[in-house]
Amino acid sequence: MLKENYSIVRENILKACEKAGRDPESVKLIAVSKTKPAEDIEEIYSLGQRDFGENKVQELSQKIEILPDDIKWHLIGHLQHNKVKYIIGKTELIHSVDSERLALTISKEAVKHNVTADVLIEVNVAGEESKFGVTTDETMELIEKISILPGIHICGLMTIAPFVADPEENRPVFRKLRELSVDIADKKIDNVSMSVLSMGMTNDYMVAIEEGATFVRVGTAIFGERQYNKGEN
Ligand SMILES: *Cc1c(COP(=O)(O)O)cnc(C)c1O
Repeated sequence: MLKENYSIVRENILKACEKAGRDPESVKLIAVSKTKPAEDIEEIYSLGQRDFGENKVQELSQKIEILPDDIKWHLIGHLQHNKVKYIIGKTELIHSVDSERLALTISKEAVKHNVTADVLIEVNVAGEESKFGVTTDETMELIEKISILPGIHICGLMTIAPFVADPEENRPVFRKLRELSVDIADKKIDNVSMSVLSMGMTNDYMVAIEEGATFVRVGTAIFGERQYNKGEN
């Protein structure tokens, strides 16, 4: 079942790349395993998948301990600054930096551990009140502030698009994030690269690829629906 889901997603990624005239190597799949047990992750791992995404620090830490060392873990959820110390040096990429304060904490912990933390800036492109992330207008200023901090490297931008019935509705959102990343790249800020665009989830990853996504974050289409306990999100 998971195996079949996984190959459908991989096929769809290839199709979207073909449609957009993109090299499939330029798009990486992050299998979003939040709330799912280690066995499910091992099954997808055994098919060759190495990039996995989690949105909670505690769950991520537990999974890191019991799962293979060569998994590349992506922290895709909101990060509280008091939890940074638990994950520094353990993630491939932190997708959700959206304040100077959080960046300062990441910088401080990274320096302490003698590592460089690769991060993305989370942009709330659609301006939804319920979502984390900076506005498109605030992005440049935040990046300029963060770029001078030691121990932290900005690799690109991330967005969580609105939940919509038709994925086409999110095309302008993805396009806007890409345009923003091009504008920022043009500024040639030291210590900032705009090589990563993390956008697209189960509902809209094919559209996101057509609009330039380099990472798509796909959970439900691979692992099935998630069950949440009351009070969690
Ligand atoms: C849960 C989550 C995903 C995956 O969502 P699906 O719709 O299940 O593919 C992607 N990105 C973020 C930030 C998430 O929290």
